[in-house]
Amino acid sequence: MRSTIAATVSLVVIAAAGAGCSNAETLVFEEMRKIDVHVHFFDDLPELADMLRRNNMCVVNICLYGTRPEFLEPGHIRAVYLQETYAPQFFFASTFDLTQRNEPDYAEQVIAWLDRTFEDGALMVKLWKDAGMEITTPDGEFILPDDPIFDPIYSHIARRGKPLMMHVADPIEAWRPLDPNSFHYNYYRNNPEWHVYGREGFPSHEELMAARDNVLAKHPDLVVLGAHFGSMTHDLDALAERFERFPNFHVDVSARTPLLFSKPTQEVREFFITYQDRILYGTDASKFSILGQPPEEQRIAFAENMERSYRSDFQYYAGQGTATFGRREVECLALPREVVEKFFYKNAQRLMPGLATAGTGPQTADE
Ligand SMILES: [Zn+2]
Repeated sequence: MRSTIAATVSLVVIAAAGAGCSNAETLVFEEMRKIDVHVHFFDDLPELADMLRRNNMCVVNICLYGTRPEFLEPGHIRAVYLQETYAPQFFFASTFDLTQRNEPDYAEQVIAWLDRTFEDGALMVKLWKDAGMEITTPDGEFILPDDPIFDPIYSHIARRGKPLMMHVADPIEAWRPLDPNSFHYNYYRNNPEWHVYGREGFPSHEELMAARDNVLAKHPDLVVLGAHFGSMTHDLDALAERFERFPNFHVDVSARTPLLFSKPTQEVREFFITYQDRILYGTDASKFSILGQPPEEQRIAFAENMERSYRSDFQYYAGQGTATFGRREVECLALPREVVEKFFYKNAQRLMPGLATAGTGPQTADE
């Protein structure tokens, strides 16, 4: 009788494990380290820094505006100020000028600038979608991210051991008719310049993905972090194929977590487990005011909103059962602890060793 009970119990355990839906332990938001590798916070935000500290979090602040060189220096100075003022909650990634690209010493200029940003603490470099979707040659041809002008710059970034965050292309919806049911509808309605559907001479989504792939192939020592799921959230098989082909390719989930809600939970869960060394947590949250420092009540509200959104994301990736996200009832991924740890901080610390000091809470023994 005893053995029958034992057999029944172990069968139940195997069935639960086989279903792959439950996580043996409940992971606690405040206890686990968490790194948001993709934010744009350029206001002075002491309340946000407090919230991050309380929750064992830090952020990597991404500098922007390669096509607006007047913002490069002020953006860099602000990123360094935030890094120093709110250590170890704020880190940063630099970016570089795209407007001097026809100058004969363009690569040398960019390399000297990037070296200066690395000295000031930049952990990564960002190349935005304006390479591929905006900048052109003097003849009006689009300059794609694999253009030879960038090769010496990519080689230098690889030599310096820094990852390159590449935001290449946009979601596939930019190449499709505007659809009110699409997650990206409001973005393209408010930013029609990036809705390229039907525009003559514009690179296709496939061409831009191929250009990104070509960078990965040409620079196998360059660690590439594809922003926004590598602009491939619509096709996880295609993304998996890239992970198989390019060991130097990684992605962040910034601004794409809500898109995962509409995919089959089991498929997403298996994807995160299979590629657990390649996927990093990020949000693409941003806060920068044109008219100086935002007032205190606005900063407090922003910190509260961010905390709610971080807790909700953690619930989706690490939680169990179903939960409500926005107006949707969604099954949580219940990822195993080791996968959650890699996703929320260990992968980021591996790619950017400067993040080793990030957070204040306990880390697991193998670090
Ligand atoms: Zn961004």
